[in-house]
Amino acid sequence: MIYKAALMDLITLCHAKQVKLVAVSKTKPASAVQEAYDAGQRVFGENKVQELEEKHNSLPRDIEWHLVGHLQTNKVKYIIPFAKLIHSVDSLKLALEIENQAEKHSKVMDVLLQVYIADEATKFGFDEEELWEHLEEGTISGLAHVNIVGLMGIATNTDDLQQIRQEFKKLKLFFDRVKYRFFSAKTDFKELSMGMSGDYHIAIEEGSTMIRVGSSIFGEREYGK
Ligand SMILES: *Cc1c(COP(=O)(O)O)cnc(C)c1O
Repeated sequence: MIYKAALMDLITLCHAKQVKLVAVSKTKPASAVQEAYDAGQRVFGENKVQELEEKHNSLPRDIEWHLVGHLQTNKVKYIIPFAKLIHSVDSLKLALEIENQAEKHSKVMDVLLQVYIADEATKFGFDEEELWEHLEEGTISGLAHVNIVGLMGIATNTDDLQQIRQEFKKLKLFFDRVKYRFFSAKTDFKELSMGMSGDYHIAIEEGSTMIRVGSSIFGEREYGK
């Protein structure tokens, strides 16, 4: 069972705003993904490599699979062959492993660099200064098999909508600075992945190009991830 009416509203909204909808199906059965697929959704996100592989193997081939959560270095090799986008490159080590594995598969892997924007110690991502330095040094942007197409961020899990808006605003400003300084000639650096079930309206208002929505489509998850 999925919230089909909510999914249809999201598809319509994203179409109108020219935002990409990533339906985050983690912990949900393949049958739920199939239901969303039958309703027209083609882009799905998972945060566990094994689950991503299993669903990729059992579901229609024209689904675009995104990896949305923290990715362990030792799991990279399993998803390189079929993943369309990795949203969550949060360390140089991970970027180097993606380079290594993508080269083996003669593939250039599209990625987003995750920026730490939340007021929470548990979230992953580069802080702005750290990422700026990496970009100045070309440590990630110089990798031949890693194609940086934008940035991603997760706002604080809070009821304070003003705080969430400020975090998204800050990320959009940083995105614009990064694009201007490092990627002004790179037309495919254009994605800003921000917004989840609780905050995608705000994220879209603040310039998101990609929202990652799970529970609004598939219902609450059993265990809190
Ligand atoms: C689970 C998850 C989402 C979706 O969260 P919802 O609140 O259920 O919409 C989005 N992004 C990431 C990185 C996630 O891990």
